[in-house]
Amino acid sequence: MSNFDRIVVVGGGTAGWMTALALVTGLRGRTVEVIESEEIGIVGVGEATFPSILEYNRLVGIDEADFLRATEGTYKLGVEFRDWRQQGESYFHTFGDFGSLTGSHSLWGQHRRLGDAVAGAFGAQCLPTVMAQEGRFCAPNAIQGAPFKYAYHFDASLYASYLRRLAVRRGANRTEGRIIAVKRREDGGVRSVLLADGREIHGDLFIDCSGFRSLLLGRTLEEPFVDFSHWLPVDRAWACPCEPSGDGITPYTRATALEGGWAWRIPLQQRTGHGHVFSSRYISEERARDQLLQQLDGRPLAEPRLLRFTTGHRQRFWVHNVVALGLSAGFLEPLESTSIFLIQSGLGRLMRLLAAAAPVDAAAVEDFNGGLVRQFARIRDFIILHYCLTARRDSALWRDMAGMALPETLAFRLHAWRESGVLLEYDEEGFDATSWLAIHAGMDHWPGRADPVLQELSREQAQQALAQRREAIARLVAQLPAHADYLGQVLAR
Ligand SMILES: Cc1cc2nc3c(=O)[nH]c(=O)nc-3n(C[C@H](O)[C@H](O)[C@H](O)COP(=O)(O)OP(=O)(O)OC[C@H]3O[C@@H](n4cnc5c(N)ncnc54)[C@H](O)[C@@H]3O)c2cc1C
Repeated sequence: MSNFDRIVVVGGGTAGWMTALALVTGLRGRTVEVIESEEIGIVGVGEATFPSILEYNRLVGIDEADFLRATEGTYKLGVEFRDWRQQGESYFHTFGDFGSLTGSHSLWGQHRRLGDAVAGAFGAQCLPTVMAQEGRFCAPNAIQGAPFKYAYHFDASLYASYLRRLAVRRGANRTEGRIIAVKRREDGGVRSVLLADGREIHGDLFIDCSGFRSLLLGRTLEEPFVDFSHWLPVDRAWACPCEPSGDGITPYTRATALEGGWAWRIPLQQRTGHGHVFSSRYISEERARDQLLQQLDGRPLAEPRLLRFTTGHRQRFWVHNVVALGLSAGFLEPLESTSIFLIQSGLGRLMRLLAAAAPVDAAAVEDFNGGLVRQFARIRDFIILHYCLTARRDSALWRDMAGMALPETLAFRLHAWRESGVLLEYDEEGFDATSWLAIHAGMDHWPGRADPVLQELSREQAQQALAQRREAIARLVAQLPAHADYLGQVLAR
């Protein structure tokens, strides 16, 4: 393929501006042009992130305090899942560990052996889970010997405009206008796009960040869509911001399972974002809207907004001279806040190829596509895990989720866990073994037999080890600042 001297980014949402900022920061001597349409606007949701965003911020040189001030941001230690296994139960998936995973010191194994009555709650063994429960926060580098990761919540519209300011300052050209037609090259690629006011914009490489429209990859090149909705049937969401509640800014996202889907709660500095992700096969839009309004922390600040989508992704992400990133490439569903992570993953791969001395050849493109296909599949499996282990039978959605035919890759992982307590890890994972363990534990899903190697520790030794870790975590967390206080200090820098 040719040199990509002139790169056109179609779309100015999170995907478009993340891409443009990375391109103008990381590559020299290219022209980067972003086309966006105020009239069409951005999707305006996508306010909870994954720890990888810290790496993006580091690579493009974003200062944390500046970023949090500009985006109304707060810290996120993970997600609290309410009512997923049974109504009335809850568990956390935070970005921290549960000690050793294997051998006689396998913490989950010893915990299982002793049981909750002796060993206490399993979540008490995970530092960021206890921090979340206690509403406390502190950056991991300030706590010695306690590795964990964190992410952020932010206002999606403010985030896109923040990235835009940075990208334009560093040399990205911004064109306001609506694309009404696309001109093709003889080889099938895209030559240029035509705007409603008559302008024509040429490029060597087009990054399709046009959101659910998938203007270039989907509509123009007609790349087929791989539909996941038989596994992930949610296809609508009501979103609504509201006044914050009196109980402070919690350092985690909440996901509450409901009759036909689940509701999110994302606390920002001045408001709380709420949404209800649901499947129209199982609940009507009106009933889903009513259920969302019952979940709100406080007075709504706007009318609920309805979004429609299909879970899945384009078969390939890079075709001819078009690369899709963001919603134009695909969407799983927001349960584990992985969309921005997937943008970042695609963007990282793209940057490596563009920065390399060698031209991008067909093998590199195939590798790019294969890697992202696998990553979508791994994350899809992890999200399905939250649903398929449910013990709920109170509505049709949960009955179907409990009985669904799983993707082979997930069925095999569940088999390995049930039969031998092995947490399999593949390439291109989004989530590591600890994250899988957090969901298995939260859903009370354990191997059928105990590993005999656990007997190498006496029950007393096991009990002592678990008590020591639990107490050390509790002592540490008691000294940490409340999330709002820590955030306030950072914002004042
Ligand atoms: C209900 C819901 C909840 C979500 N929650 C999360 C979450 O918690 N965490 C997470 O990581 N992700 C989440 N996501 C996904 C997240 O919103 C997106 O990944 C992210 O916002 C990126 O969107 P985008 O930039 O691809 O698309 P958009 O924001 O829709 O941007 C598309 C851009 O293309 C432009 N455009 C389109 N057509 C044209 C045209 N013809 N001419 C000119 N410009 C055009 C638009 O104007 C806009 O600028 C969620 C998504 C949904 C639907």
